[in-house]
Amino acid sequence: MSKCPKCGCQTFVMGAGTQTHYASLRCSECDRFIRWLPHPKTYEAHGDENALIDRLLACGRLNNWEVKFCINIRPLKKRHPNQKAKLQELGNRLKLNRL
Ligand SMILES: [Zn+2]
Repeated sequence: MSKCPKCGCQTFVMGAGTQTHYASLRCSECDRFIRWLPHPKTYEAHGDENALIDRLLACGRLNNWEVKFCINIRPLKKRHPNQKAKLQELGNRLKLNRL
């Protein structure tokens, strides 16, 4: 998602949210609704996880199962608490949780 499907514009603005959605993303040109935006806290937590997965995969110290695990959960939008826990455990073991 980097282009408005209606006008092709590539800049977006944050719009109003609802009770269930923190905010919306709208096209800056034609005001078309693009998608809902998660609460920044949710977004940051997930971004941190993705960054951790990337660091884990890049470190070269995972076993085969762990590499598969990281690759499998990398594209997931929502991760199970068990997956998050395993990820934190790997990060702790390899001291990659925080740079
Ligand atoms: Zn547009």
